[in-house]
Amino acid sequence: MSDNDNFRAEAAAWLETHCPASMRRPIVAEEMVWGGSRLSFLNDDQRLWFERCRERGWFAPGWPREYGGGGLSSKQARIVEEEMARLGCRQPQYNLGVWMLGPVLLEVGTEAQKREHLIPMMRGERRWCQGFSEPNAGSDLASLKTSAKRVSDAEGEAYIVNGSKIWTSYGDQSDWMYALVRTDASARKQQGISFVLIDMHAPGVSVKPIELISGKSSFCEVFFDNVRVPVRQLVGQEGEGWAVAKKLLQHERAAMSKFAEGGAPSHDALAVARPYLEDASPAQAAVWRDRLAAVLMDAHAFALTHERVTAQAMARQDVSGPASIMKLLQTEQEVAKYELLTQVMGLRGLSWEGEEFSQLEHDVCRQWLLSKTYTIGGGTSEVQLNIIAKRVLGLPG
Ligand SMILES: Cc1cc2nc3c(=O)[nH]c(=O)nc-3n(C[C@H](O)[C@H](O)[C@H](O)COP(=O)(O)OP(=O)(O)OC[C@H]3O[C@@H](n4cnc5c(N)ncnc54)[C@H](O)[C@@H]3O)c2cc1C
Repeated sequence: MSDNDNFRAEAAAWLETHCPASMRRPIVAEEMVWGGSRLSFLNDDQRLWFERCRERGWFAPGWPREYGGGGLSSKQARIVEEEMARLGCRQPQYNLGVWMLGPVLLEVGTEAQKREHLIPMMRGERRWCQGFSEPNAGSDLASLKTSAKRVSDAEGEAYIVNGSKIWTSYGDQSDWMYALVRTDASARKQQGISFVLIDMHAPGVSVKPIELISGKSSFCEVFFDNVRVPVRQLVGQEGEGWAVAKKLLQHERAAMSKFAEGGAPSHDALAVARPYLEDASPAQAAVWRDRLAAVLMDAHAFALTHERVTAQAMARQDVSGPASIMKLLQTEQEVAKYELLTQVMGLRGLSWEGEEFSQLEHDVCRQWLLSKTYTIGGGTSEVQLNIIAKRVLGLPG
């Protein structure tokens, strides 16, 4: 056996022993364990799984040990991810910091920033939100207007931030925000933008949750009124935040395209559909089987493509184009899968609440609705198509 095979066997054995059975069921939004100062657990299994992974550095198996990661090579870290997916293990900690900001800080952060921010992420103590979108800057993100004026006074060098962000997921639950701000209003659109880290508890930050028609929402508006952000919280160079954000968005798209691998709520389409197919008329069942086969083949093709893109990333090839392709495909495939499952379930697929429905029916119904948001967050499907047209296919703008 090769070293990698040995490592795979070891990782699988550790996961078999240490991941409680209840942490191998498909995740639903209510059961996600978000790190941060409000960390809480619904049961002992959640706590155990969280603590065991934290101790081993497996919130981020590939990060260096000195910042609390697992210290594994990128190949080994990938093996851990694959084994977790194979066994259906849930993510032990959900945190935008770990998925998106962390890899960027590892690449372009200062040593002081890495120490200040990565270690609390790896302890599960600091939850991050993303402050990119503004009321008139969503797809056209470079139109953002939140300003950051540099000052130097008795307290030291800082930016004074004014403006607001919108659609900030879990802004009210987060400890810190990574944000794009305009440090130079006179420069061309993308050039006057900087990437800063903002303490959500700093004076002048206020958060207002946005209510949605479903009665539930993770969305917030965040307002900045003369918020002081020390210059040491600038990531990369002043005015070059767009390049930092592009790096981060690649990680966001990669994280979103990993949904099929157990990173986020997802169901085994065949297992869910089978009992309903048995109850359907032969003619109807034949149509569903056909569509189910297409969903499964797409998922398989996606998994193979994902393998290839991961290998390219590990070989340090530019995967900015493929990241958009993967984000587009995976999120659209999730929508197609849940559209099909809710149709196969018939009226039982519309089981938002009610005791007459099973837990699985509730979960599938919620995932059906949630899956639609995946095609908007992290850049809409249309925006991904634009990127693919321009960067991958080389078509004119
Ligand atoms: C679940 C979820 C979580 C989110 N979390 C966050 C967060 O934490 N932080 C954050 O900053 N933002 C967040 N967002 C916001 C998200 O990034 C924006 O919603 C997204 O970028 C689209 O911007 P918009 O809503 O302003 O829509 P618009 O940009 O106004 O787009 C409206 C429609 O026009 C289409 N469109 C726009 N421009 C083009 C174009 N050039 N070509 C073709 N079609 C186009 C879009 O595809 C879309 O269908 C989240 C969104 C969702 C759904």
